[in-house]
Amino acid sequence: MSTDDQSAVADQYGVLIDGTERDASSGETIAVYDPATGDRLTDVAAGTAGDVDEAVSVAHEGFETWRGYTPAKRCRILNDVARAIREEKERFARIETLENGKPLSEAIGQVERCARHFEYYGGLADKVEGESIPLDDGHVDYTIREPVGVTGHIVPWNVPIYLFARSVAPALAAGNAAVVKPAEETPIGALELTRLLHENGVPTAAVNVVPGEGVAAGAALSGHPDLGTITFTGSSATGREVGKAAIANLTEPHLELGGKSPLVVYDDADLDVAVAETVKGIFATNTGQVCSASSRVIVHETVSEAYVEKLVAAVEDLSIGPGIDDHDVGPLASAAHLDRVAEYFDVGRSEVGDPVVGGNVLDRDGYYVEPTVFADVPQDARILQEEVFGPVLTVSTFADEAEAIQRSNDVDYGLVAGVVTTDMGRAHRFAREVDAGQIYVNEWFAGGNETPFGGFKDSGIGRENGTQAIHNYTQIKNVCLDISE
Ligand code: NAD
Repeated sequence: MSTDDQSAVADQYGVLIDGTERDASSGETIAVYDPATGDRLTDVAAGTAGDVDEAVSVAHEGFETWRGYTPAKRCRILNDVARAIREEKERFARIETLENGKPLSEAIGQVERCARHFEYYGGLADKVEGESIPLDDGHVDYTIREPVGVTGHIVPWNVPIYLFARSVAPALAAGNAAVVKPAEETPIGALELTRLLHENGVPTAAVNVVPGEGVAAGAALSGHPDLGTITFTGSSATGREVGKAAIANLTEPHLELGGKSPLVVYDDADLDVAVAETVKGIFATNTGQVCSASSRVIVHETVSEAYVEKLVAAVEDLSIGPGIDDHDVGPLASAAHLDRVAEYFDVGRSEVGDPVVGGNVLDRDGYYVEPTVFADVPQDARILQEEVFGPVLTVSTFADEAEAIQRSNDVDYGLVAGVVTTDMGRAHRFAREVDAGQIYVNEWFAGGNETPFGGFKDSGIGRENGTQAIHNYTQIKNVCLDISE
C-alpha cells in the first residue's frame, strides 16, 4: 500500500451512534483485511444487540428532527451530500478497493453511482405527493404519504458504498431515519460515508451505523420491533431469515437477493459483442461477485464452438492482480469466500470434467482465482443451478427459442436475464417469456439508478432504484372529511 492508500483508512473504527464513535458494548472487534494482500487493514467494533437497541432508540429521536425539516431542505442537504461525495470520489474509491478488492476504476464508478443516488433521491424529496380521490359532493378525500419512521439496512460486502446509498438515500429523502449494519468484511465505506452525511447537514441521530457479525448485530436489527421497514441485500438463505424475523414483528421487509442469471446468445448474434458482454458480466466486474452477474451462458448449438473459442481467448487476455493497480480481475473479497469458490471448482470438475479455461486458485498472497469457464454443462448440474458468486461461468447449448427460454427459467432465481441477438422480435419475446426483474438486450448491466431493480422468485421481494423505490419508505394515510351541509 502507498501512503495515500493507508491514509484512506483509520487504524480503528467503532459503532457510530448519534455522530459519536465508540467501542462495541462487548469491547470485541473484528479485523478487516485487504483482499489484495491478506494483510490486516483495520479493526472494527463488533456491535451487539445492545448497540443495535441504542442505535434504533437514537434514530427515533433523529427521525423527529429530520421529518421536521421541510422537504425542500432535505432536498438541498441530500444534494450537498452528493456534491461532497463527488469531491472525495478518489478517497472513497480507494476505501472500496482496499476493503473489497475491486479494480480502482470500477470503484470510482460505484462511488459515482452512490453520489448520483443521493442526487436522484434528493430531487424526489420534495415530490413525495399524495392524491385527491373523488367520492361525492358530501366528502373531500385525500392521501398523505408519510415516512415509516426508523428504517433498518443490512448491506453485503460486494458493492458496499453504492449499496449503502441504494436504500439509505430514498429512506432519507422520504423523511425517515436509518440504522445500517454493513458487512463484517467491508464496514469502512459505510462508516466514512455516514460521517460525510453528518458533515453535510443530515442530523447525527438520523443515520447510525452498527458494524458487527450478521448473526449478532444483523439478526438483532432484522428482528428489532421498533423499525418501520428493513431492507436487506445479501444471499437468499439469509434473506429468508431476515424476512421471517421482520414479519414476526409485522415489519415490512424489502429483500434484494442472489441470482444465477442467463445470457442467451442467438445464432444471429454478433459473437464479438456476445463475448465482450459475457466477460464484462461475469469476469471483469468485481471478479464475478455481482448479484446480477451473467453466470450462465446459453448459446445456440450452431455457434457454440466459435463462441467458446473467442471467449477462451478473451479470458486468457485478462490481467489478474491488485485492484489498486486496476487490473481487469481483482482478488475475491475474503479468504472464506476464496474457499467457497474453490469448492465450486471441485464441484464443476466432478460434474463436467476440467474447465475449458481457468479452474485454479493462484499461488500468491491475497485471494486470487482464475476466471473459469465450464462448457457443455447439463441443466441439473449444481455448478449451473447454484450461485457461485465468483468468476465462474457455465456454458450450455440450445436448439430453438423455446428451449432457450425453458433453460433460462429453469433455476430457482429470477434476478436478471440477458440476450444477444440482432432480431428485435426475438428480444421482445425473450423479455416477455423470461422470469426476471431485469432484461438486458445486447448490453449486460444495462440500466441505472433511475431504473427499477429487484428479483422474481428466490431473488427477492420488492424493487430498489427509480421513482417507485421512495414508496418503499412511506406509508399511505387516507383522510376523509364530511363536508355536507
Ligand atoms: P450474506 O447474506 O451472507 O450477508 C449479507 C449481510 O447480511 C451482511 O451484512 C451479513 O453480516 C448479514 N447477515 C448475515 N447473517 C445474518 C442474519 N442471520 N441476520 C441478519 N443479517 C445477517 O450475503 P453476502 O455473502 O454478504 O453477499 C452476497 C450475496 O448478496 C449474494 O447472494 C448476492 O447475489 C447478494 N446480492 C444481491 C444484490 C441484489 O441487489 N439483489 C446485490 C448485491 C448482493
